[in-house]
Amino acid sequence: MTAQLIDGFGRVHRDLRISVTDRCNFRCTYCMPEEGMQWQERSNLLTFEEIERVAKIMVERYGVDGIRLTGGEPLVRARLPLLVEKLAALGVDLAMTTNGVSLPLVAAELKAAGLTRVNISLDSFRRDRFLELTRRDDLDRVLAGVDAALEVGFDPVKINCVVMKGVNDDEVLDFAEYGREKGVVVRFIEFMPLDADEIWNNSLVLTQAEILETLQAEYDLEPIRRSSAPATRWRYADGKGEIGVVATVSESFCETCDRTRITADGQFRSCLFAVEETDIRALLRNGSSNDVIAEALERTVAAKWAGHQINQVHFIRPRRSMSEIGG
Ligand code: SAM
Ligand code: SF4
Repeated sequence: MTAQLIDGFGRVHRDLRISVTDRCNFRCTYCMPEEGMQWQERSNLLTFEEIERVAKIMVERYGVDGIRLTGGEPLVRARLPLLVEKLAALGVDLAMTTNGVSLPLVAAELKAAGLTRVNISLDSFRRDRFLELTRRDDLDRVLAGVDAALEVGFDPVKINCVVMKGVNDDEVLDFAEYGREKGVVVRFIEFMPLDADEIWNNSLVLTQAEILETLQAEYDLEPIRRSSAPATRWRYADGKGEIGVVATVSESFCETCDRTRITADGQFRSCLFAVEETDIRALLRNGSSNDVIAEALERTVAAKWAGHQINQVHFIRPRRSMSEIGG
């Protein structure tokens, strides 16, 4: 039997999120500052071979069966399909979270390389609002990216929508309707205190209960049994697909969390909100054996806390923003 990455609360970790770059061609207001972001030096980023080595240890020793590529924007990393090919060979469920803008160009190549699923971030169908939120006038290209993902056969295609009060909360039903028509799964994400500009405050969070109230006024929804996935899910009673909410702030799902993360510069994190990291890049580059690296991974997970404490006085904001950690 494979060993397990298990923490002090008995949670077994089978999901790895790999950030392949901290760079992005967008500057979403809830994630990055408009200017002044300090990018990592190229030499600080893990190479594809280094990423493959860690992923292989996680999969072969610890039974990790889900890998998600993220960023920054993963598609700004040159030759990403090569990494996809290496990771797909490990036989895992291989997904990617992207802003979608480059998908019309690379969706087919990614699919052929072995990527199984994509999550595309989209927060507004209104061109002016989209521009305001992402600081790029690219709504049409992202919508074309969703179409490209569907055309090449990614299944499911999910849409990540960060909903904020007074910003885009009037589009909840538009998103639901889009999801039903297109056959994509919409997941509303509560705004989290990981934005680089520190504009987050509780009054901007549209909670799961509020999102659900809006949806239920229009649709008959049936709950889907919870898994280790972060979203709480409902299916439309008329059979037209499903919808989800990632309620990190109002209904934390820490007790079922099975996620670990590695940043673009090779720091291993046991929680999105972790304040401590383990420097795996240093081990990868100082000649450490796989046993030594594995032991560092085990130790980090074993020391994982019970959960983040957003909304409590002792919550400590992580030093890094969402774009540096990868979502
Ligand atoms: N660039 C890719 C994208 O936007 O999909 C991948 C990286 S992005 C950091 C991953 C996810 O985090 C996206 O779905 C994005 O909407 C979400 N995100 C970023 N900042 C957030 C915040 N402060 N609160 C909640 N979600 C956030
Ligand atoms: Fe870039 Fe994604 Fe952050 Fe937007 S959410 S700035 S697309 S990393």
